[in-house]
Amino acid sequence: MKGMKGMSETKRVRTRFAPSPTGYMHIGNLRTALYTYLIARKNGGDFILRIEDTDQERYVEGAVDVIYKTLKMTGLNWDEGPDIGGPAGPYVQSERMGMFKEYAVKLVESGHAYYCFCDKERLDSLKKNEDGSTAIAMYDRHCRNLSKEEVQAKLDAGVPYVIRQKMPLEGTTTFHDEVYGDITVENSELDDQILIKTDGMPTYNFANVVDDHTMGITHVVRGNEYLSSAPKYNLLYEAFGWEVPTYIHCSPVMKDQSNKLSKRNGDASFEDLIAKGYLTEAVINYIALLGWAPKGEQEIFTLEELAQEFDISGISKSPAIFDPVKLKAINAEYIRRMTPEQFCEYITPYIRQYVKRDDIDFRVLASVLQPRTELFTDVEAQVDFIDALPEYDNALYCHKKMKTNEETSIEALRAVLPVLEELDNWTVEGVHEALFGLIAKLEVKNGWLLWPVRTAVSGKQVTAGGGVELCVILGKEETLARIRKGIEKLS
Ligand code: GLU
Repeated sequence: MKGMKGMSETKRVRTRFAPSPTGYMHIGNLRTALYTYLIARKNGGDFILRIEDTDQERYVEGAVDVIYKTLKMTGLNWDEGPDIGGPAGPYVQSERMGMFKEYAVKLVESGHAYYCFCDKERLDSLKKNEDGSTAIAMYDRHCRNLSKEEVQAKLDAGVPYVIRQKMPLEGTTTFHDEVYGDITVENSELDDQILIKTDGMPTYNFANVVDDHTMGITHVVRGNEYLSSAPKYNLLYEAFGWEVPTYIHCSPVMKDQSNKLSKRNGDASFEDLIAKGYLTEAVINYIALLGWAPKGEQEIFTLEELAQEFDISGISKSPAIFDPVKLKAINAEYIRRMTPEQFCEYITPYIRQYVKRDDIDFRVLASVLQPRTELFTDVEAQVDFIDALPEYDNALYCHKKMKTNEETSIEALRAVLPVLEELDNWTVEGVHEALFGLIAKLEVKNGWLLWPVRTAVSGKQVTAGGGVELCVILGKEETLARIRKGIEKLS
């Protein structure tokens, strides 16, 4: 057992993400992983992945893979873990089961734990009040004062037992959390919790403490649902003579003021967000800000920048409300910062869901979409006119500001048609030059000519890009066909 001796000021920072494999990555858990990772990176320490698979009610197929996949995708690379090993392995809790009982027995020997032989019936009776109603189930410490001989006799007779933590009966326990400050509880309120179960296996709380210590963890980042267990954890560390790690409990991620973000509303998991078209980097950036405030005004951070900037003192204890509007704005910012080539590559599969034609100028399409795309999955309404011209009403040609109506529009389209028929340089520059040349020649306003073109080729009132770009996206043949159709409709 390592004592406090030898722990110098410069102790290497070691953090761990200890997820239970549930089959999906809740946003709150991903945030825990991120903060854990950032603390390790900021301090030049180690980020460890430990799979806590022992308190699972049932095995979820592929659940561990979800954890690996998410961490890899988000760039939260671990230094030690089940797949890559390390000096403190094994890193899967169920593979560590053999060691815990020994530790518990040491606590019995040092007077910090005791054998309890109470059977189920007796324990159940404690949970009932005399009138049959359910009582607060604190163990009544029945076995706490059995004599050494009594204990030995029962052990020899093979009576099933658990090992319980011997909580102090008086006084208080104070623990420090970096986010919540000092928290003090009355020892008399602490249950003599079970450390080792009848089957010889550790309880979750016990395994967690022993694992953290034996893995040399210096900073424990976790959800605040574990705050109430922290005093018991502290008493265990003290009983062993181990150094208590730095605690960083994070407030829950909320859907609104009173409801936690839950898997049921379809927004709670990383996978949901990716399926909705959010960029991994944007999600990570947003999650970093979900309960942590940077010192300056900057809001857009790469993972490397976060590792520099992150500071535990910026973590807030008030619950963080998940704000889809803010996430979308951050996503849009990431999209705007992409190079046109990157954007084109990303958006193409989304466009392809709605556009099957092959003769489309994807480069131009992407360039008009980039400034107005907040989310890749929003692309449908921007491209739904490409494969086939939608049915549209001639009223669309009437635009007050552009001073267009059905008569002016047919006139404009008739003038445009031969010019475009003649045009060989079917590029943004070429079409631009041709249409603006015509505008100059006819001495008309831009909108007088461009609005009808845009309407005829898209059949829509609102489009990404103007008439010129739409013509180039659709290609010459399709553009001409749609303009002819427009003339016909207006005739
Ligand atoms: N396995 C726990 C969970 O997934 C983590 C507890 C901890 O970090 O201490 O909630």
